[in-house]
Amino acid sequence: MNARTLQAGALAAALLTIAAAEPWAQGSERVDLDAIYKIKDEGFQRSQVMDTIGYLTDIHGPRLTNSPNIRKAADWAAARLKEWGIAGVRQELWGPFGRGWSNEKFTANVLSPQPFPLIAFSKAWAPGTNGIVTADAVMVVVEDEEELKEWTGKLRGKIVLPSKPLAVKPLFDPTGRRFTEKDLADMQAQPVAAEGRSGPPNFQASQQRTRRRMEFFAREGVLAVLEPGNGRNDHGAILVTGPRDLRDAKAAPQPPQIVVATEHYGRIARTLEKKIPVTIELNVQNRYHDETLDSFNILGELPGTDKADEVVMLGAHFDSWHTGTGATDNASGSAAMMEAIRILKASGVKMRRTVRLALWTGEEQGLLGARAYAKQQFADIDTMQLKPGHAKLAGYFNMDNGTGAIRGVYMQGNEAVRPIFSAWMAPLANIGMTTLTIRNTGSTDHVAFDEVGLPGFQFIQDPVEYSSHSHHSNMDLYERIQPEDMMKNAVIIASFVYHAANRDELLPRKTLPKPRNPRPTTTPQ
Ligand SMILES: [Zn+2]
Repeated sequence: MNARTLQAGALAAALLTIAAAEPWAQGSERVDLDAIYKIKDEGFQRSQVMDTIGYLTDIHGPRLTNSPNIRKAADWAAARLKEWGIAGVRQELWGPFGRGWSNEKFTANVLSPQPFPLIAFSKAWAPGTNGIVTADAVMVVVEDEEELKEWTGKLRGKIVLPSKPLAVKPLFDPTGRRFTEKDLADMQAQPVAAEGRSGPPNFQASQQRTRRRMEFFAREGVLAVLEPGNGRNDHGAILVTGPRDLRDAKAAPQPPQIVVATEHYGRIARTLEKKIPVTIELNVQNRYHDETLDSFNILGELPGTDKADEVVMLGAHFDSWHTGTGATDNASGSAAMMEAIRILKASGVKMRRTVRLALWTGEEQGLLGARAYAKQQFADIDTMQLKPGHAKLAGYFNMDNGTGAIRGVYMQGNEAVRPIFSAWMAPLANIGMTTLTIRNTGSTDHVAFDEVGLPGFQFIQDPVEYSSHSHHSNMDLYERIQPEDMMKNAVIIASFVYHAANRDELLPRKTLPKPRNPRPTTTPQ
């Protein structure tokens, strides 16, 4: 898609200006301007990144791990990488992950007292209804298990609403924005307060409670459980994930579970609170796929020359949640990485180290694919016994924050990479990349490298409708992707990978972490 790209002439002029004006040698770190010119030229004039995103979303999305769709998407991606001349394209199995799941039909309508269609989606891995079912809704808002027991024998054939309507605040802030110069400057400051962010208190305990409640509803013959959207207040875009237990076919049964737009849930709940009965019709057809319980990572390479046994990796998670098409989470990252390796191949730049692309699955369930790979290639996090690959990895670059333009890198506390990255960034300043922060970012696959003492990095991206809107929502679709941002991101990633592949040394590392659990238990997780 070149229609919205920079004019060829304007781009060439910009590149020339930069080449004339900027001092390139930053410290002793070498920057190859000729290679950057070729990378920019390929990435801006002959971009394929939006075409890739189109196939990963419109055609093969969503890509829930172990669903039939993600396998088709993976076959498509592997074929495309081979077409581009990427070597060693393969799908490496890891597992067990658990069974696959797909939704094949979904309708949800309130029939009375006033008919209206619900904006609603099935949770992943939840069962469907047995064809079309019609039932009365009932509020079952309980404090504890004792109160829940009082409902024994009263819920057969009902549709349960287990929580009160949510209070919804108006939206005053924009859902998407660019980082300002001040935001970026603030980000560069060393944080002095303890940064460690822990999850909500007793997250596991609350998960257990939810599971026990669902199992009770299933035993009582409840037809379905409705839940309100998570209160992100998203005007019809609702965040839907799925219960992890049901990936195991032997787990105790749970009822169909449906997330309903906050406002629609509220309307049903408020009607019931007025003692007016509400009848709902549902038809949810979900299918489990037990053919294989293992999942896979997609890998491919550009072989290096004199340092071919050393590796630079670039990657992103390929899997998504199931209600949209996983455009910003994370077709954007996967397509940017595929495009970056395509650019490196097509531009004909020479690289000393081998460049390896990895598209992970199972990220949404806990970085499972990346962690399985790290354990096999680099180190067991429990014992920190190192595998041969550990000494050979120059670095890993990851993208997983939606469509937003890359503005810099989170250095993950690794101060020694500052002069290197700062040199590599200089010729990318004119496409918006200017910022290094010592801070960490988490919750995605570079963590699988960082936690075993390897230099794994995630880029800083503009917050464009991601956490506020598209992340894990039914509206995470192609339209949420910005082509200019995607082209810039692929060029930036290709430039970083190119320089990591050609510098004399591997990227500097932090101190090796201590074993997490020196005597690991033998219980499978
Ligand atoms: Zn993601």
